[in-house]
Amino acid sequence: MPENDQSQYECENCHHDVDVDAAFCPYCGGIYTDYLRCEKHGMTDADGVCVICGKAYCSRCGGWVNSTFRCNEHAQYEIISDMACVFAASDEMHADYLAQVLETEGLHPFLFQNKMRPNNLSFSAIASTINEEMHRYFETRIMVPFGEVIAAEQILKDIETSESGDILSEDNY
Ligand SMILES: [Zn+2]
Ligand SMILES: [Zn+2]
Ligand SMILES: [Zn+2]
Repeated sequence: MPENDQSQYECENCHHDVDVDAAFCPYCGGIYTDYLRCEKHGMTDADGVCVICGKAYCSRCGGWVNSTFRCNEHAQYEIISDMACVFAASDEMHADYLAQVLETEGLHPFLFQNKMRPNNLSFSAIASTINEEMHRYFETRIMVPFGEVIAAEQILKDIETSESGDILSEDNY
C-alpha cells in the first residue's frame, strides 16, 4: 500500500486521485473551487469543466453526460473508461493506420473493438461528425485520453484533407 500521499485527493464524484491544489477534476470535470466562471458568461458560476476541451462552463453551456461534464459542443462524444472516441470506422485496417499516425505524433491512441459486426459497409468518420444513426455501423473506434482529443482531431482532419487533396490533384492530371 502506498503511503498516505498528501499531494493527492480522491475526487468525490468519480473517485480518481487528483492533485490537492487542482481547481477541478480532469477525469469527470467536477469543480472544487467557487471562483471558476463560465467561459461564455463571465458573470455566471461554472457548473463544471468540459473533460474534452478543459474549459469551464455554466449549466446553459454544458452539462453532465454519463458522469462526466461536457460543454454542448462535446456532449455527443462517446466515452469509455477515461478516453474519448475521436474516430470510428467499419474498416479496422484504416483505423489501425490512423492510430499509428497519432502515435507517431506523440499521442496515446487505443483501439477499441465493438464486437457487434455490421454489414459489409465500409465507412469511417471523425467523432464530431458521427450521429447516433451511424453508431451501429462502426466496429473499430480510436480512443484517446481526454486531453488529446483536440490534437488528435486536428491530425485526423489534416490526414482527411490531404487524402482528398491527393484525389483532386490526380483528377487534374
Ligand atoms: Zn472526478
Ligand atoms: Zn468542450
Ligand atoms: Zn455559460
